[in-house]
Amino acid sequence: MPLWVSRLVKTLQQDFLPSYCLICRDACESQNLLCNGCLNSIRKNSWACRKCGQPGAALTGHCRHETAPHFLQAGLEYSGVTRDLIHRWKFNGALELTHLLVQLALEAAPIKRQYHALVPVPMHWRGRWRRGYNQSRLLAQVVSRRLEQPAQQRPPVTDGLITSPRKKAQHHMGRQQRRINSQGRYRTHQSFANQSILIIDDVITTGATLEAVAEALSKAGANHIDAWCLARAPQTGK
Ligand SMILES: [Zn+2]
Ligand SMILES: [Zn+2]
Repeated sequence: MPLWVSRLVKTLQQDFLPSYCLICRDACESQNLLCNGCLNSIRKNSWACRKCGQPGAALTGHCRHETAPHFLQAGLEYSGVTRDLIHRWKFNGALELTHLLVQLALEAAPIKRQYHALVPVPMHWRGRWRRGYNQSRLLAQVVSRRLEQPAQQRPPVTDGLITSPRKKAQHHMGRQQRRINSQGRYRTHQSFANQSILIIDDVITTGATLEAVAEALSKAGANHIDAWCLARAPQTGK
């Protein structure tokens, strides 16, 4: 179905039909995509390690290494309703969920520092061509508009990074293997000299991608690099 037709159908449904929760199909208030039960079941990634986002590890000195990103926030746990929403958004093209996901993650992980630029994790052009968009860039655009700063002072979304294809698929790799697989994948011809940067990504698994992106930004002169993601997946290995 062409995009404009599906948008029209959705608009008509919203205006004239009772609304049903996207996840459990129970009836819900017409303006909401989720019922209160599903909304309340979303698990926030509270007390997470500030380096890697591991849930519940805020006070344990979980990560002591001094690598960038300096601080990382991933507002939600990648499980249950959150995982379902992100799947629909990322793999089924339900782009109308971008605002809801950003809102939920920002409520759990507000952005307090000011940055010179938001840098989405880039996708290799082949992946972007297949999917039609880079989901991290969509997030960065919405995040930028949601920052509590006057519009003219909001940091721009910068596509300054270039990526090469992955050496190997890494779904089943642990942290160390992913680090090796991601090393040197990102580069930039742009200067980020003395800038404070916020990297934006959707789901963090081991943090290897963010480390590789941060390394490229650091080489380009950035002096403070943080990361903000929607959700943190459970650790898959060491
Ligand atoms: Zn529901
Ligand atoms: Zn950690």
